[in-house]
Amino acid sequence: MHPQMATVREGVMKLEPLSKKLKPEVVNLDISKYVSKTDFAVSIIDRQIEAQKINIKGAQIIVAGGYGVGSKKNFDLLKQLADVLTGEVGASRAAVDAGYVEHERQIGQTGVTVRPKLYIACGISGAVQHTAGMDQSAQIISINTDADAPISKIADYNIVGSIEEIVPKMIKYYRQNSK
Ligand SMILES: Cc1cc2nc3c(=O)[nH]c(=O)nc-3n(C[C@H](O)[C@H](O)[C@H](O)COP(=O)(O)OP(=O)(O)OC[C@H]3O[C@@H](n4cnc5c(N)ncnc54)[C@H](O)[C@@H]3O)c2cc1C
Repeated sequence: MHPQMATVREGVMKLEPLSKKLKPEVVNLDISKYVSKTDFAVSIIDRQIEAQKINIKGAQIIVAGGYGVGSKKNFDLLKQLADVLTGEVGASRAAVDAGYVEHERQIGQTGVTVRPKLYIACGISGAVQHTAGMDQSAQIISINTDADAPISKIADYNIVGSIEEIVPKMIKYYRQNSK
């Protein structure tokens, strides 16, 4: 028997309810029967596990910002919107690289994969490396000054305008309506 292994990035697949009919069997294999010690090029010296500070994967609503957000200060607007909606702030790699926001919030191929109920993409162009981490969101709203940005093809709603103009209005109206 040749053991086979497959790995899937966390969050890529939808969590389905556990089927009660399934009765999986756990088989603890003695790996020394199949692989010799010299085959292991890597040895684990130590494990450092830190508590997760940001739970972006568990958020039902994500307000994500890209390079178009323009500054750390404008990211505070996204934080306010996320707070009103009881969501989390996410980001594109360009926003992380520009130092607007922490790396833990990066969504995409080299960040986390999310599938919230609502994803509000602010100033994000929609590069494939970004959309790979969010295109399974149930509803996508894009706010962008460019009506033809690639994200517009996958967004359910496109708001054409600047972050500075649109986001404060959204904060205002969501606040009014949630009272
Ligand atoms: C190997 C590899 C891995 C990568 N992994 C990731 C990843 O995990 N996640 C990721 O996100 N990217 C990743 N990238 C980078 C990716 O290719 C893009 O460069 C990045 O996603 C672009 O980020 P952005 O959309 O924020 O910026 P941009 O592409 O610069 O887009 C900015 C957008 O903001 C709009 N805009 C400008 N001003 C305003 C304003 N005032 N108001 C509203 N809109 C405005 C513009 O019209 C534009 O659409 C990766 C790239 C590589 C090569």
